[in-house]
Amino acid sequence: MSTALIYINLDAVHPIINSVWHRTNINRLPSSGEPITMLCGATAPAEFEGAAHRDVIRVARQCWDCERVYREKRGLPAPPNGYPEPAHPVPHPR
Ligand SMILES: [Zn+2]
Repeated sequence: MSTALIYINLDAVHPIINSVWHRTNINRLPSSGEPITMLCGATAPAEFEGAAHRDVIRVARQCWDCERVYREKRGLPAPPNGYPEPAHPVPHPR
């Protein structure tokens, strides 16, 4: 019996956690419920939905912490206007 092979570009996988899309460095598709770690360090269990189930009301924002790590690992320059405020608050030393 033949299979229906579906290729997925893992470089184009941007997991969304609480309306923020992240970058991750996965080398295989995770199982549903398997924890995956984003470049920024956030971790959450994988969940899959078809694109038709995307939330069109709340558009996901980009995680700039992931973007910073992604660019630094590839030797890419920072965005021309710099990075916006971190998505995750950074504690201030006293
Ligand atoms: Zn992130």
